[in-house]
Amino acid sequence: MRKNIKTHAKLVGIIGHPIVHSWSPIIHETAFKFTKQNYEYAAFDVLPKYLRDALKGLTALGIVGCNVTVPHKEAVLEFLDEVSADARLVGAVNTIYVENEMLVGHNTDVDGVVEALKPFREQISNQSVTLFGAGGGARAVVYSLISYFRPEQIYVINRDTSRAELLKKFFADSQNYRNIKINELHNLNEAEAIKKSKLVVNATPVGMFPGVGESIMIDDTVDLEGKIFFDLVYNPVHTAFLKTARKKNAIIVSGLEMLYYQAAKAFELWTGVAMPLEKVRAKLDQKFIDASAPKERKVSVQ
Ligand code: NAP
Repeated sequence: MRKNIKTHAKLVGIIGHPIVHSWSPIIHETAFKFTKQNYEYAAFDVLPKYLRDALKGLTALGIVGCNVTVPHKEAVLEFLDEVSADARLVGAVNTIYVENEMLVGHNTDVDGVVEALKPFREQISNQSVTLFGAGGGARAVVYSLISYFRPEQIYVINRDTSRAELLKKFFADSQNYRNIKINELHNLNEAEAIKKSKLVVNATPVGMFPGVGESIMIDDTVDLEGKIFFDLVYNPVHTAFLKTARKKNAIIVSGLEMLYYQAAKAFELWTGVAMPLEKVRAKLDQKFIDASAPKERKVSVQ
């Protein structure tokens, strides 16, 4: 955990395990400076066996709230007093706000996905989508797509098809959405799914630092011109998946977009103040791109 917390500062933070890859602290710290608020953002590495105790500690220590990341996003649900409708329908929480000693769970990843894809709403609605992954991030993507973009069909491609089947059942039961088709990763149907799709999303950690250069395979023969490629991975900002897509004239959306927008919503929940996103981006965009340059130097932005 960070040391030298300013006296009288209000505290927010992030819980996950491991936690070193996160860029959330620098985004929030920058926004606190711009809005002149006396808050600190701390990173807590919490083992799964201590999750319940860590959450109890939020109220006990007067912590305003926290972000939740892998592997706790689904597990925290049972320890919360209230859960927002979005988080309940996604089945995962990425932000907790302590309100009158009650732990309230939200899913601002949904805001992140919706805002990142908003410029393409017209293009996506009533079209097909290919989604790699079936974890917490993928669930936020599916929920956002169903609720705000109404795609005709979603092809979910995952290594573990039973996990993808659970996701399919979850959204059939909770949202009455029955247009999810499951494929196993590295099956020839992938290329077919991408060919039919307007939007292709990577919601796996493949390509994330330190695995820079790895990519969910994109069949060389598929024409990607005009398709939209969205990678949830944000470190590096320009992943191998996005670079391949850009070379083939696809439109690309980096995970950094989603990261900023989910952070902005969490910031607002905790402080009641809007995050000055333009200013934060002007300060950090280049820093993040530099930090993810392919020199493989140790990334110190956390
Ligand atoms: P998660 O719940 O652990 O799910 C991971 C998913 O990726 C699973 O479907 C898993 O497949 C698949 N996967 C993992 N390793 C793989 C590999 N080597 N090859 C193929 N598939 C693999 O994680 P998550 O929370 O969804 O996060 C996924 C990624 O999204 C992470 O990189 C995370 O940082 C990023 N993310 C970004 C934002 C943002 O704001 N930009 C927000 C949320 C998440 P199996 O089921 O087969 O294991």
